Parts: sequence; structure tokens; C-alpha cells
Amino acid sequence: ARRIVETDLAAHPEGRWLDYSTAARLLDCYGIRVADAISVGGSESACEALAWLGLPVALKATGPDLVHKSDVGGVRVNLRSVEEVRQAYREMAERVGPAMTGALVQHMAAEGVEMIVGGVAHETFGPLIMVGMGGVAAELLVDRAFRVPPISRAEAGRMLGELHCAPLLHGYRGRPEVKVEALETHIIGIGRLMDEIPEIAELDLNPVIVTPGGAVAVDVRLRLA
Ligand code: ADP
Ligand code: MG
Repeated sequence: ARRIVETDLAAHPEGRWLDYSTAARLLDCYGIRVADAISVGGSESACEALAWLGLPVALKATGPDLVHKSDVGGVRVNLRSVEEVRQAYREMAERVGPAMTGALVQHMAAEGVEMIVGGVAHETFGPLIMVGMGGVAAELLVDRAFRVPPISRAEAGRMLGELHCAPLLHGYRGRPEVKVEALETHIIGIGRLMDEIPEIAELDLNPVIVTPGGAVAVDVRLRLA
């Protein structure tokens, strides 16, 4: 993890938002699962990526100035054939325009509960870890719990217990119960990462999709400084 951070800061001394694959490698050092994905530069390489990823996939526009991809029509999910991927890429390039310099072809997560796990490094108080409800309503219905790391498994469980959306994790209204331990593992891992790597200025996994089988981050924003 230290080597990944130092290499990136040597190349970009001002710090920067990491690209998905670099961020994923860093998170992997802490056992934090991120969806498998391949960066591509055009519709044909997007189709070739399917040989590695299988179907279905999500397709996401990438570019140095792209942040909220859905807002500009830069996210398509559940693409089920090579032809669908090719067409989705072309339509996306047209919609998003020159801000799109490539795309991420990403393995689809199973259906589950969308949560946010994040961290910020405060200048004087150090790292602070957050977990909350994810998905489209997250900014309207602010539902979050904060802790200073280190975070034990018991503490991660208590954070989740503080959320209004906690029942969603436990089979609310006939939906399947999801694997809460896997979400706790993300919270614990982000706590360790933020504690041990002070160069991480901010970090957001939004969403982490929690399913009956596990938890996986499908969107990662991580800034080094
Ligand atoms: P952004 O936040 O930049 O708009 P995201 O990558 O978070 O884009 O994608 C938006 C939404 O699309 C997610 O909240 C999630 O509901 C869905 N989504 C994105 N990627 C996947 C994936 N790999 N598997 C399942 N759902 C996904
Ligand atoms: Mg997102």
C-alpha cells in the first residue's frame, strides 16, 4: 500500500484523484472488495474486455473531469451482450462528449442494499470514518454514523445499528437478509487504511452493494494529497 501511494505521489506531487484500478489495488491491500473492472479507450476494446469479465457488465464513462457519471448519462448497467456493450459505448460517447476519454467496463454486482462507506483526513483531528445509506435517496435522507479509527468489528456493528436504514440490512419486508459481516469488513478496512495512510485526503465508496453473498464497492473516489 505504501509503495502504491508513494509511486503515485512521486508522479503527481500535488496529489490527485486516483483512477479506479490504482484505487482498487490500494483497497485490495486492506481486504476491501471492489468490483472487477477493465479500463478501455474505445468501443472495440470495451467488447474485448468481456472475454475477461463475462456478462452482464456495467459501462461507465471515464475522463479527468468526470465526477458524477450518472448525471451526464455516463453510467449504463446490466448490459447483456457484446452488441449491447458496443452500442452503449457509442451512445455514451455521443451523450457525454469530449469529457469522456474512455470507459470502465465493470462486473455487475448482484442485487442488494446500497450503502456508502467513506473517510476524510481532518487536518488537526486525523481520520474520520463514515457509513451511511447509499443510493439515489442518500443525499435527501441523510442517514450516517461516524467514528474515529481504529474500528473493531463490534464498533462497526454499533455504527450500523445507529442508522435509520439498519432494518434494510436484515431482510426488510420480505427482502433477503444481506451479509452484514462483509459490510463491517469494509468499514474496518477503511478505518485501518485511513489510519495507516495519512496521504489519503478523502475516500468514498458509493455505493458498496451488500448482497446475501457479500459486499462489493462499485464506485470509488479516492484523493491523495
Ligand atoms: P456515479 O455515482 O458517478 O453516478 P456509480 O458508479 O455510483 O456512478 O453508478 C451509479 C449507480 O449505478 C450505482 O449507485 C448503482 O446503483 C448502479 N451500479 C453502478 N455500477 C454497478 C455495478 N457494477 N453493479 C451493479 N450496480 C451498479
Ligand atoms: Mg457513485
